[in-house]
Amino acid sequence: MDGRQWLDLHGNFTTLIHGHAFPPIVEAVERQLRDGTCFANPTLAEIALAELLCERVCGLDRLRFVNTGTEAVMFAVKAARAFTGRPAIAKIEGAYHGSYDWVEISQTSDATNWGSAEEPNSIPYYAGTPASVANDVVTLRLNDAQSAARLIEKHAGRLAAVLLDPMPSRAGLIPVEPAFVEAVVTAARRHGVLVISDEVMNFRLGYTGAAARAGLAPDLWTFGKIIGGGFPIGAIGGRAAVMSVFGGEGVAAAVSQGGTFSANPVSMVAGLASMQALTVDAFEKLEAHGDTLRTRFESGVAQHKLPLSITGSASLLRVHGRAKPPRDYRDTVAGDRSIVARMVEHFSREGLLVPSSGMICLSTALSATDIERVATVFEAFASAEALRGEKA
Ligand code: PMP
Repeated sequence: MDGRQWLDLHGNFTTLIHGHAFPPIVEAVERQLRDGTCFANPTLAEIALAELLCERVCGLDRLRFVNTGTEAVMFAVKAARAFTGRPAIAKIEGAYHGSYDWVEISQTSDATNWGSAEEPNSIPYYAGTPASVANDVVTLRLNDAQSAARLIEKHAGRLAAVLLDPMPSRAGLIPVEPAFVEAVVTAARRHGVLVISDEVMNFRLGYTGAAARAGLAPDLWTFGKIIGGGFPIGAIGGRAAVMSVFGGEGVAAAVSQGGTFSANPVSMVAGLASMQALTVDAFEKLEAHGDTLRTRFESGVAQHKLPLSITGSASLLRVHGRAKPPRDYRDTVAGDRSIVARMVEHFSREGLLVPSSGMICLSTALSATDIERVATVFEAFASAEALRGEKA
């Protein structure tokens, strides 16, 4: 409206891994619009996209498409319930998984209600949430291996699944630590509790996905965002035995799963074009750009002794208003949001679009010159902050 131009480091909530109007996606979609935009039956592009994902992700035998990440997580939870015959789930405090009631629990709990560190309360997300919903969610603290394992053991008889995002963004964009993964998975396996890796956002962490990067071998996966090339998408996948709850050749469905626009060919061809362009080299370039920015940001922080820290990996990073990097959601919430808000404002004045959380999302459309520009803008912000501190 006002004629300003922006360098987009938001990427529509991390969706646009190739930036806007990526030519191969535009061409694929234009072609598909002429061939038809929705069919009741499967299409070739749907099969091709499913095959590509199953080839890349170790352990992913079967896949079903939906239209959003929310739906993917909802069906993964339903699949786990149907497979185990149990109602409850465990999830990480502060983690975002979309808008299904159970996965919203403790998404925004705070110091007034989150309870003890060893056994966090399960706090409803909105007024009027049925008490039964919160009762069927066990809240775990990110990277607290001992407490998480103990809580899984304690509630195992009613737990269908542990829902894990390998680097939950709202909890702080903090990677799950190997000891935490090990403890959670061991406790879950011992009691037949399934493990779901929610990679709706973090599938962009590497060619083989986020679980592989974290050393996690889940039973179920959820995907979204980058696999749709900028069009609505979600997918639920997993081991063949678990996915058989959705039915198949000669097997009746224990959970009915469908949707009018699921696997619509526009999202499928866009997603296929997006994923085909995401070669090993493309991921390496994204990772190198992310590493450059994290290093430059960290040295700017150190040079000016600012109370800031950086989290994230590969093409994502987040700036926190605290000197020590957060290890979990409670640390993240304790950070000073005002300094992050000033950074976002500074970026905005310089034409860099970032969300208010201070997360930066890279795309293959960014050149080394763009990366240099982002680093320079951050360095200017760091020295302005240092001056501000001296004046105060
Ligand atoms: N899970 C995770 C980890 C997400 O980041 C998101 C979206 N930000 C969702 C689920 C929900 O996806 P959607 O917005 O497509 O419903």
